[in-house]
Amino acid sequence: MTDDFDEYAFATRGVRSGQRRTEQGEQSEPIFTTASFVFRSAEQAAARFSGADPGNVYSRFTNPTVNAFERRLAALEGGERCVATSSGMAAILTTCLALLKAGDHVVCAHGLFGNTALLITNYMARFGVDSTMVPLTDVAAWERAIRPNSRLLFVETPANPLAEIADIAALADLAHRRNCLLVVDNTLCTPALQQPLSLGADIVVTSATKYLDGQGRCLGGAVVGSEALVGKEVYGALRTTGACLSPFNAWVFLKGLETLSVRMRAHSAGAERLAGWLALQPAVRQVYYAGLPDHPQHELALRQQRGFGGLLAFELKGGRAEAWRFINAMELISITANLGDTKSSITHPATTTHGRLTAEAREAAGIREGLVRIAVGLEDVDDLTTDLARGFDALKG
Ligand SMILES: *Cc1c(COP(=O)(O)O)cnc(C)c1O
Repeated sequence: MTDDFDEYAFATRGVRSGQRRTEQGEQSEPIFTTASFVFRSAEQAAARFSGADPGNVYSRFTNPTVNAFERRLAALEGGERCVATSSGMAAILTTCLALLKAGDHVVCAHGLFGNTALLITNYMARFGVDSTMVPLTDVAAWERAIRPNSRLLFVETPANPLAEIADIAALADLAHRRNCLLVVDNTLCTPALQQPLSLGADIVVTSATKYLDGQGRCLGGAVVGSEALVGKEVYGALRTTGACLSPFNAWVFLKGLETLSVRMRAHSAGAERLAGWLALQPAVRQVYYAGLPDHPQHELALRQQRGFGGLLAFELKGGRAEAWRFINAMELISITANLGDTKSSITHPATTTHGRLTAEAREAAGIREGLVRIAVGLEDVDDLTTDLARGFDALKG
């Protein structure tokens, strides 16, 4: 998927790349809401179906609006090809279907996005794919977990909600020495803050639902990587299995990419300020944010990322009752588990996003009852600290 804007800077590619202007001369990209496409002749139809003519056929696998989003995201991630999907989970499922077979083994980190962990341990396992979970930051543990039949290393960095950072270059090197592929879920950083392919990862998967949309409107996802892996294997699996992205959602994400660079800078700046402010509060035991100098992987995050992102967590002195009283005192920040929205949100991981884990598994993952997670939106940070101060007042009362 060659792009005309390769020589331009990131922000420019976000705004300009991927567009194929039609003869109407439109400035903004159109939405092609059509299921199928018409051929000039039986000969052309045959050529389109065989792939000899690369034009449009049917919107499950060729739609101009979806393709424009794919080209733009590929340009931002620095990948040869992108395949868009109906959700982030569909991106991960399609990648698994394309690259795994019965008898294969996957290594992934504890604390993966809950549905990703369930997909691998409950569903892929039914089709004969085995898996091992290891601590995210322990490269030696990843190495020990690799078996002769290991095929994929799957990592999410920063991890949600404790903001642990995995060393992408070290894991890519390990994967390649042991004949595996490294898949990185880049949802939390987006290519504006981190480009895993440039660090050696083979495949990037993402939930476009989060920061690529940026306003909490649509579900979608994408897989980015080489022509051989994504252009052939993942595209082939998606074309057949059908978890494709709708043209309308693709258009929302396409326009979202135009503001991604400025939004991610603003989310990161807001979260950095809030993390510093939270660290000063007497009721806070610990703040989890890689932008803080005392975070154990702060140096790695500085090296690997161009910003620390919009997600942070903090642990209150106290347990569930204190965390819930704090959350219930919010007047501005929304109580919802989604992230990557302009509207800030607050959640209690132990009873929501990580509520399906056993108490022991939660404890092992470091998700305690006093933990609160905030996805920092784009409101004025002073209004956010005013709202959070209401939570601290409620703990005193
Ligand atoms: C939300 C999310 C997903 C799943 O994406 P959906 O679009 O909700 O299917 C996968 N990985 C991460 C890190 C997420 O935050």
